[in-house]
Amino acid sequence: MPALLELVEVRKLYRVSSGLLGLQSDTVRAVDGVSLRVERGETLGLVGESGCGKSTLAKCVMGLESVTSGEVVFEGRPMAEWNETELRRHMQMIFQDPYSSLNPRQKIGSIIREGLDIHKIGAPAERNARVEELLGLVGLLPEHGARYPHEFSGGQRQRVAVARTLALDPDLVVCDEPVSALDVSVQAQVLSLLRDLQARFGLTYVFISHDLSVISHISDRVAVMYLGRIMELAPSEKLFASPRHPYTEALLSAVLVPDPKRRPERIPLTGDLPSPMNPPSGCPFHPRCPKAFDKCPAERPELREVEPGVQVACWLYDG
Ligand code: SF4
Repeated sequence: MPALLELVEVRKLYRVSSGLLGLQSDTVRAVDGVSLRVERGETLGLVGESGCGKSTLAKCVMGLESVTSGEVVFEGRPMAEWNETELRRHMQMIFQDPYSSLNPRQKIGSIIREGLDIHKIGAPAERNARVEELLGLVGLLPEHGARYPHEFSGGQRQRVAVARTLALDPDLVVCDEPVSALDVSVQAQVLSLLRDLQARFGLTYVFISHDLSVISHISDRVAVMYLGRIMELAPSEKLFASPRHPYTEALLSAVLVPDPKRRPERIPLTGDLPSPMNPPSGCPFHPRCPKAFDKCPAERPELREVEPGVQVACWLYDG
């Protein structure tokens, strides 16, 4: 059975002007050879520092950016075979900022109903009933449909965004930092809502966040990205209990654990994320890796399975 979503060696490169007067051009390797599968009904967490390429990858998945090379296959069909209208019925996105993702001049009911209107789903009365149903599903009241976005808190607005996403009954929802702009207590509520809706409707999520505690709450499997590449891909429990890649270890060691006895030894992540315009040779993590050795700057390690379901791109796991 094909995966719901499959990425095969996906690359997204951008040409940018550089040099004096911008007469030269450089290549930004935003996504640099990503392959992965997302199975129906699972949540794949995508985590990494800001600028690692996770949002660009999300846009490639959504068909909002064309890929430079490689292939995105959704429901067994290459992305090129989908048209935009058809794709939006099956695949939706929740954005980070619930303030800017909703049109301030549109009433909530009309925002949620928009997809039903565009795709001409149901008679007008049925669409209104569906809007009420969706408001209820995300914990809002029917009368909220007559209000404007500015009358809601950040958490409520994100609930509206979730309701809009569900309107077309999608198979895949790409969530791009959906709780990053919210207070911690509200984050937990929205995450819980997303999990409930997943259990109820069999949704599949690709969930992007820079926040490991959020990722650990929601993900079945986690892919750790660095400079446009996947460094580690593992079931969530395994990744958080025993990270393999030195980058994952460093990210996890920086997360505050309440119990001091369980607090892992802190592994300093020195230096900034290198520029994707000029990525380091060999293993892209080698300039910051406390375990780097002579092979690391010379040759690039590919992502390989080191135990069932666990893939790591690191020479420490070379046979
Ligand atoms: Fe560190 Fe080398 Fe592994 Fe890269 S390949 S993560 S530099 S040990």
